[in-house]
Order: sequence, then C-alpha cells, then structure tokens
Amino acid sequence: MRLSTIKLAGFKSFVDPATLPLPTNMTGVVGPNGCGKSNIIDAIRWVMGESVASRLRGDALTDVIFAGSTTRKPVGQATVELVFDNSDGGIQGEYGAYAEISVKRLVARDGQSAYFLNGSRCRRRDIADLFLGTGLGPRSYSIIEQGMISQIVEARPEDLRVHLEEAAGISRYKDRRRETESR
Ligand code: ATP
Ligand code: MG
Repeated sequence: MRLSTIKLAGFKSFVDPATLPLPTNMTGVVGPNGCGKSNIIDAIRWVMGESVASRLRGDALTDVIFAGSTTRKPVGQATVELVFDNSDGGIQGEYGAYAEISVKRLVARDGQSAYFLNGSRCRRRDIADLFLGTGLGPRSYSIIEQGMISQIVEARPEDLRVHLEEAAGISRYKDRRRETESR
C-alpha cells in the first residue's frame, strides 16, 4: 500500500485545489519557511481522523479551513483526499480488492464534517478500521514528527506496546475485541 496522490482544497494555505502526485517511493518536499510543508502532513493526519485541533496546530477544528489572506477571502470548506495504490493488497478487508482506494474528509465552517471511502459517505470509524494494522493513522508510527523519536525512546513500556501491536498487525483484533466487550 502506498500513498500515491494528495488532493487538497481550502485546507490551510492550500486555498486553490491542488493535486500533489507522489510518483515514487521517496518524495521530498522543500520550500521556504511558511510555504505549507507541514500543512501537508497536517492534511494527511486530518483525513485519517485526527480530531484534536492542537495536534493540527490550531485552536478549533475549523481552523484547518483557509482563513483568508491579504489578497484572498476566506473559504467555506476544506477537503483533503488521499489516494492509495493498493495493488500489493496491503489494505485488506472490505476495500482490499480495490487497486486504488480513496479516502476523503470534508469540513465546513459550521463544523459539519464528513468522510468518504471511494466516494461513498462513511463514518470516521470506517477510515480508522481500514488502516488499523497498516501503521497508518492519525497518530501511528508512519508519521514521525519532530520530537517523536525521543518520545518513543523514552516511552513507558505500555505506550511502546501500542506501536508494536500496530506494527505486528494485532491492533485491529484488539480493537474489535474492545468493541465487542463494550456492547
Ligand atoms: P517551516 O519551514 O517553518 O516549518 P512550513 O513550510 O512547514 O514552514 P506550514 O507550517 O506548513 O509551513 O505553513 C504555515 C503557513 O500556513 C502560514 O503562512 C499560515 O499562515 C498558513 N496557514 C495555516 N493555517 C491557515 C489557514 N487556516 N488559512 C490560511 N493560511 C493558513
Ligand atoms: Mg514546518
């Protein structure tokens, strides 16, 4: 499974619709301070379901919507879509048969938020389910941010275990069990 395209519109500094192709296994993003590099990482974590504004470097969840600039008016909504190449079958389950999987999130100024899987409306939970055990998720190890290495090195064994379980692919089953037990 490989992230192959990121599409953004109205998200933070990406006011105009932008398509960022990631054609190879390694892509570097370079640019001057404040040009929007970290906003791309925020976008990925946001689509994955991150719902704590401070983890997206904002105060409110609607802060991800383009807030206007000296030359542009604010916009009413933000969308981000991630397209995954799943030809290796890295994503399993209901959507595993698709060679390409699209995950999209939209938020409007009134706070209304929606998620889409291959174009169909879905729950945040469905997105989380899709990626459980793949290492990808709003807070999973596939995104290593500044300071996270030392956090992992210094983590308590029980916190470290969460990452190991995700890497081993068993977090999916533990999550299911938790859900069943809570019913
Ligand atoms: P650095 O090299 O300093 O880490 P960067 O390329 O990572 O910079 P970002 O943090 O991604 O930069 O982008 C910051 C820019 O995004 C700022 O100019 C900020 O004004 C703009 N920005 C963030 N949120 C919004 C928003 N909701 N509306 C408009 N612009 C925004
Ligand atoms: Mg940055």
